Amino acid sequence: MDEISRLEELRKRLERYAREYYIDDRPSVPDSEYDRLMEELSDLEAKHPELYDPNSPTQRIIGKVLDGFEKVTHAQRMLSLDDVFNKEELHAFCDRIWKEFENAEFVCECKFDGLAMALMYENGKFTRAVTRGDGTVGEDVTENVRTIPTIPMTIDQTGPVEVRGEVLMPKASFERVNALQEELHLPLFANPRNAAAGTIRNLDTGVARKRRLDMYLYYFQNGEDYGVHSQAEALTAMKELGFSVYPHWKKCHTFDEIWDFIEDIGRQRESLPFEIDGVVVKLNSFAQQHELGVTAKYPRYSIAYKFPAQEVETVLLGIDLTVGRTGKITPNAVLEPVRVAGTKVSAATLHNRDRIEQYNLMINDRVIIRKAGDIIPEVVKALPEKRDGTQIPYVWPENCPVCGSKLVRLEGEADYFCPNPNCPARVVRSMIHFCSREAMDIDGLGEKKVQWLHDHGFLSTIEDIYHLDLHKEELLSFKGWSEKGFTKLLAAIEESKKQPLSRLLFALGIEGVGSKAAKLLAEAFGNMEAIESASTEQLSAVYLIGGISAQSIYSFFRQEENKKLVSALRELGLNLTEEVTASVQSDSPFSGKTVVLTGTLTQMTRSKAKELLESLGATVSGSVSKKTDLLIAGEHAGSKLAKAESLGIPVMSEAQFLEEAGV
Ligand code: NAD
Repeated sequence: MDEISRLEELRKRLERYAREYYIDDRPSVPDSEYDRLMEELSDLEAKHPELYDPNSPTQRIIGKVLDGFEKVTHAQRMLSLDDVFNKEELHAFCDRIWKEFENAEFVCECKFDGLAMALMYENGKFTRAVTRGDGTVGEDVTENVRTIPTIPMTIDQTGPVEVRGEVLMPKASFERVNALQEELHLPLFANPRNAAAGTIRNLDTGVARKRRLDMYLYYFQNGEDYGVHSQAEALTAMKELGFSVYPHWKKCHTFDEIWDFIEDIGRQRESLPFEIDGVVVKLNSFAQQHELGVTAKYPRYSIAYKFPAQEVETVLLGIDLTVGRTGKITPNAVLEPVRVAGTKVSAATLHNRDRIEQYNLMINDRVIIRKAGDIIPEVVKALPEKRDGTQIPYVWPENCPVCGSKLVRLEGEADYFCPNPNCPARVVRSMIHFCSREAMDIDGLGEKKVQWLHDHGFLSTIEDIYHLDLHKEELLSFKGWSEKGFTKLLAAIEESKKQPLSRLLFALGIEGVGSKAAKLLAEAFGNMEAIESASTEQLSAVYLIGGISAQSIYSFFRQEENKKLVSALRELGLNLTEEVTASVQSDSPFSGKTVVLTGTLTQMTRSKAKELLESLGATVSGSVSKKTDLLIAGEHAGSKLAKAESLGIPVMSEAQFLEEAGV
């Protein structure tokens, strides 16, 4: 395709994407793809100035006022921001300004990923909220904005005030909203930004009230009327008037300071309660800002530095199945390698068969993958509209890919299982778990080594780990094995025999027995014999051990092969007792923290959760304040959750809490 046709095609495509994003709140491509195409179009337009068009997506803010909302013309246009994607481009921007004003200072702020909103006040009262719209005309969404609890309805300033900022949906609210959408079989929102935009433009204000939005202010539109002369003063003045101004902003004098701020925010990004997509760098002085002025679309005195994409498009090359310790089958996408958030990704989880069917995935499909922090990347969307005839249907197998047993699916469960306890994949995963750091902690027996020893016939059962000394000569004849390393390994295996009973119980991989439950069981019974002979009633009498776990522990110790394994471990001299130590843990993720519980917990009562937290070293408090370190929110959480979110306090779901607590 020649450059001119490509330019025209890009204009059309970007216009469509912008419509889907700003007007329908349903983007069909990730932001990174949009930004990439926008850059390509800008480059082509620069090469072909004769094709200048004021209506090109590069030249105007694309937005539209929806029917049903009153149109409002902004007193001063609401602009977008020009963006840069790397350090060099940002440096060049700052240098341009320093060339103009040698003493220029910059203010760095988070780039909130929501939608821009203008708030008006008269006689100290909130009167109106207007969206950015096309920059000149926006929509009056006052009634929906009124439901945002952190926006003051009165301020201590009787003259007219206009402030601007970002309305956003905190991550916790987003998860709740999408869970509800799923339950009601409604389409899911692609991200918190789209959910916030969809909520603000919903004609039913009840929806906005339920979904809990938030707003951070970053612009004092008529601040100069009140003696405000810089961005730093504007942020301070808005805070004093009672608006939420996110406290993490910084006045910078050098590029190093600016870059440090960006790196610092980048590190905190995942743990922030809301999404940000970059950092905005603004010239501080209003007088200098006025001198630089604005273009049709952007101010010349600020710039958005965008973080590397976390969602990207790639090709699904195949689907691999892995068999876990419990036999659970997990499908993994094999991908054409692509960079996401700074790392190269060639595999992503697909969770289970339902997910493959839900996306109607075919091999060779184009897919969107997402990576959040350290979390394994996942496939979040398929793009069937991009099929080109090379796609091949994927057929879910009937049998275990490792041992060939017929797969089973328990009623009401999403996962498929390999039911064969002797399936080589299950055996290896069980041994890896047994040796892992949280279990018997055998240094030198990591995943790869265990797999190798299994594949070479040295390990078939857990018991074999303790007989590796018998294979010394043979093992030392293999490449990569040394006398010194082998002696060290044997010492680590020997040392593991002293591990307390709680670790052994966890290491055995009994269903329903996580590390915390293992500790509670070991402390309650003191030794292995007592647990082996305990009835289900005695087991379920242990704090936090439910009926299902008790039944699973009881059955485990009645199965012939498990009985044999435990007696072999006993003979090998493993420690089968637990010393009961002080019950408050000082090294848990909760120790020393002030935690508040709210909402309905489904796995345990509030008082059990309180006891558990206290045993993990936390102090449980009844109300949320600045001193709160963490909020654990069950279902239907209400005002405490909203308050915690507004104070920027980390929020955990019940499931996350149980996982962190090791229950
Ligand atoms: P933008 O989001 O890149 O930046 C401008 C906006 O940043 C402002 O309007 C304001 O709302 C916001 N902002 C957040 N924090 C701020 C702060 N501290 N100070 C000042 N402003 C702040 O620009 P945009 O025009 O709103 O959207 C363009 C972007 O939207 C694109 O770069 C792309 O990533 C995305 N987009 C995606 C699609 C898609 O199909 N996926 C389509 C259109 C646009």
